[in-house]
Amino acid sequence: MHLNIFVSQKCFLYCKGCYSYSREEKCGQELETDIILEFLKYAYNKGIKKVTICGGDPLTRKDIVKLLRKIKKIGYYISLDTLGTSILKNVKLDLKQTIKKTSAKDIASLVDMIGIPIDGSTDDVFSKFRPTNKEIVKEQIDICNKLNEYGANICINTVLHKDNIEDIFEIAKIVKKLNYIKKWQIFEFEPFGKFGRLNRHLFEINENEFLKVKEQIEAYFCNDKRIQFKNSKKRDGAYVLVDNSGYAYVSSNCNLLQENRQIIGNIKEQKDWPIIVRYLKS
Ligand code: SF4
Repeated sequence: MHLNIFVSQKCFLYCKGCYSYSREEKCGQELETDIILEFLKYAYNKGIKKVTICGGDPLTRKDIVKLLRKIKKIGYYISLDTLGTSILKNVKLDLKQTIKKTSAKDIASLVDMIGIPIDGSTDDVFSKFRPTNKEIVKEQIDICNKLNEYGANICINTVLHKDNIEDIFEIAKIVKKLNYIKKWQIFEFEPFGKFGRLNRHLFEINENEFLKVKEQIEAYFCNDKRIQFKNSKKRDGAYVLVDNSGYAYVSSNCNLLQENRQIIGNIKEQKDWPIIVRYLKS
């Protein structure tokens, strides 16, 4: 199983279909840097070599660059899932908090694969899932270009849902132009997280619709291996996620409800580390 650690509960957006459990946690909840690092050192020595840093948005964490530097020093292959907004500018999260601009150079040098979402070819389609009144498509492309200037490995992530399925070829055209990207992952929308569950009626598509898009897009890209499709079956039980409170749980299609999360331990408890690593190695 793959290890995903939430390092922030905050985010630049409030997606209607947010699939992250982090948005359900108590406001301001965040794992201490030392706890994350101690657990990661242990896991690395037991053979876990890859980690995905996510949230919320990891770039909203104040010490994110320092944290990434220390995780890299342990030896990890790091993936980072971010909207990327602060790569371009300071971002006001609310009246009290501003996230300072993050160095694209630092992120590019410390992270092995940076996942940037593009869910629509127009601001209107994009905003169906991730409401915003900004020029979001242009911004996402600018973020990719900026990261590319520093040689970052970029993966575009697209959540395929009811409201962008008709737009997928237009999104594909954008992705094709970003010819430097290393991967394009297309995920079938899944009703994970509080908002994903609440709004599943707006976004859910069926397996056949997903497979049809897969066939068409693979043909459009002449079976380019960089294009990867992840349906809910493929993701079922594929990840161990650690939330901002330290709880580790397995992503599972039968655990869509919060109260049914299969908690396997907490990284704040050293006695739980062997159990969590056992899951990761299974
Ligand atoms: S889906 Fe991702 S980008 Fe959207 S609110 Fe949730 S954590 Fe933030």
